[in-house]
Amino acid sequence: VPVSMVKVVDEIVKTFDGITERDIQIKKENHTMMVKADHDQMKQLFYILMDNALKYSQDTIDVRLFEEAGKAVVEVQDYGKGISQQDLKHIFDRFYRIDKARNRETGGTGLGLAIAKSIAEANDGEISVISELHSGSTFTVKFPILTEE
Ligand code: ATP
Repeated sequence: VPVSMVKVVDEIVKTFDGITERDIQIKKENHTMMVKADHDQMKQLFYILMDNALKYSQDTIDVRLFEEAGKAVVEVQDYGKGISQQDLKHIFDRFYRIDKARNRETGGTGLGLAIAKSIAEANDGEISVISELHSGSTFTVKFPILTEE
């Protein structure tokens, strides 16, 4: 079923706007970006990325949506604690969490990003991350854009 990537991201950003005082900036170069994917799974994917971005930073979150080489691209950037190059290798593994002892009471399971990755792959998409410790992380999601035939 075709879904609008822009619509899905808008919905998720609205959800977080309603429950947090944090500043979430959204920049759209494209206003639809139809992709072939499951709507609820797409929502779950962006929920995971936004939830993490808010959890591991204190400043603005920047969300950018644009089209590149036939792909719908969404970037979620935070300016928070970042991820070390060593941890980056494992970040999409199931049950992997950084700083386990300190995080224990905040209740994460380390499944979020593994789920995000499996959703991307199940829908012909990709997910990647660049990050620098203490300066922030950018998660990038790409899905092939549906073109009408
Ligand atoms: P947690 O409560 O530890 O976040 P989780 O279920 O959210 O659990 P994942 O979403 O899979 O776990 O994230 C795995 C680990 O990656 C997290 O424990 C966190 O240390 C790190 N991480 C994820 N997103 C970010 C981010 N935006 N900035 C810094 N670290 C992150």
